[in-house]
Amino acid sequence: MSELSNLNITSARENLLKKEISSVELTNYYIGKIEENKGLNCYITQTPEIALKMAKKSDEKISGGLDIGILEGIPIGMKDLFCTNGVKTTAGSRILENFIPFYESTVSKNLWDNGAVMLGKTNMDEFAMGSANTTSFFGNVENPLKEKESIKKLVPGGSSGGSAAAVASGQCLGATGSDTGGSIRQPASFCGLVGLKPTYGRCSRFGMVAFASSLDQAGPLTKSVNDAALMLQAMSGYDQKDSTSSKNRVPNFLDYKNLDLKKIKIGLPKEYIIEGLNSQIKECWENSVKLFKDNGAEIIDISLPHTEFALPTYYIIAPAEASANLARYDGVRYGFREKADELLDLYECTRSSGFGDEVKRRLMIGTYVLSAGYYDAYYLKALKVRKLIFNDFENAFKKCDLILTPTTPNVAFGIGEKQNDPIEMYLNDVLTVPASLAGLPAISVTGGLNDKSLPIGLQLIGKPFDEVSVLAGGKFLEDSREF
Ligand code: GLN
Repeated sequence: MSELSNLNITSARENLLKKEISSVELTNYYIGKIEENKGLNCYITQTPEIALKMAKKSDEKISGGLDIGILEGIPIGMKDLFCTNGVKTTAGSRILENFIPFYESTVSKNLWDNGAVMLGKTNMDEFAMGSANTTSFFGNVENPLKEKESIKKLVPGGSSGGSAAAVASGQCLGATGSDTGGSIRQPASFCGLVGLKPTYGRCSRFGMVAFASSLDQAGPLTKSVNDAALMLQAMSGYDQKDSTSSKNRVPNFLDYKNLDLKKIKIGLPKEYIIEGLNSQIKECWENSVKLFKDNGAEIIDISLPHTEFALPTYYIIAPAEASANLARYDGVRYGFREKADELLDLYECTRSSGFGDEVKRRLMIGTYVLSAGYYDAYYLKALKVRKLIFNDFENAFKKCDLILTPTTPNVAFGIGEKQNDPIEMYLNDVLTVPASLAGLPAISVTGGLNDKSLPIGLQLIGKPFDEVSVLAGGKFLEDSREF
C-alpha cells in the first residue's frame, strides 16, 4: 500500500479494489487533512457526515463485488457552483450565501453515481469571475505552493482556486472545476496540477450556476493525466436537461494510452508568443516542443490570426451573458434579500449588497454592450469575431492534431497583486480564452518549474470532441518532464 499522502485517484482506486484500504479510512484521512489545512480556505462547506455515509456505501459495494463505479470510494471536492441537493451552494457569492438547492447538478450526480465521495464544496471566485480566487465572498484561497525560500502567500489562480488548492495540498484526491475562459486550466497551472476543459457540450451544464452559458464547461482538476481521464469519464455524457449537451458518443478516455505520438502533428501558433510572456515560460514551452520532436511527433508552424482579438471578445461576450444570467438574483426567488419598502428598492438594495465589486463591474459591462445603440457595435461585433476565431482553429486543425502553447503568461503571483487594475487581471486569461470561445477541449499540464520552483503550465488544445488526443499529449508532457 502506498503512503496515503502519495495517493492519486489512479493508485487509490487500485488500493480500494484490492481492499488494501477502505473508503471510510481514506475519507477519514481527508476529513483530517481538511481540518489541518483550514488556513488555505479551500472549502466553503464541509460535508463529513455525507462523505462517511457515501464511503460506507462504496465499501459495501466493493466488498460485494457488484455495481462498482469508475470512482468507487474516491473522496473528491465539488466546486461550489454545482448544485447539490440539500447541501448549500453559494457560487462564492453573498447573494447565494444560504441557498440550499433541492436538485442535483448532472455532473455531480454522474460523479456520485460512479461512486465518488463528496468531502465538501470548494471555494471559488464569485460566480466564477476571476483569475486569482480573490473575489469570493468567503475570502481568498491561498496556494499551498510557495516560491523557493519565500513566505509570500500566492494566489492559486481562479476561478476554481479552492478546488485546485485542495487537490494540491492533499485535501481530496481530485476536484471539479468549471471553465468559462480558463478557470480550470489556469489554477491547474498555478498549483502544479492537471486541469482539463472538455469540449463544450461534453459535460452537462444542468445545475451548474450559470456565468456565461455559451462558454461554461465542467471538468476535472487532478494530480495526474490518468486521474483526469477517469474523472472525465464519470462526469461526461448527454443530458436531455441541457439543450447544449452533446449527443456525441463518449469514448473510453483511457484509450489515450493507445495513441502513437509519432503519428501526432503538433501545431505551434506564432501568435501565442505575446508581449509579456514570461521568458522562463517561453523556454519551458520551447523545451517541450523539442521533447515532442525528439519523440517523433511532427512539429508544424501554424497561424491563428485572430488571437489578439480573443481577450476583448471574451470580455464582451462573457459579461453580456452574465448580465442576463444573473438577472434572476433579485431577492425575490433566491437566497439573500435586503429589507426595503418598495419593489424596485428591494431589487436595488439586494443586488447592491448581494454582489461583490467584480460581479457588479461585469454586470455593468454586460448591460452596456447589450443596450440599444451599443449592441451592434460591441456584442454583435464580438459574435462575428468569435466565429473568425473558431475558423482560425478549424483551418489550423487541417494541418495538425494538437496545438501546444503555454497556459498562462506568468506563474502564480502574490495575493493582492494585480488587484488595482482589472485589465491587468484579465490579461491572465489571454492564452486560455481562445479555446473557450471556440468550444475546444484543452488541458493544462505542468511542463516544468521556474527558477523559484513554481510550476509552469503548458496547454494542449484539441479538435472538437478529441479529448483522447489531448490526454495523450498531456500524458507525454507529464512523463517527459524532468523534475
Ligand atoms: N478569468 C476569467 C474570468 O474572470 C475566466 C473565468 C472562468 O473561466 N470562470 O472571466
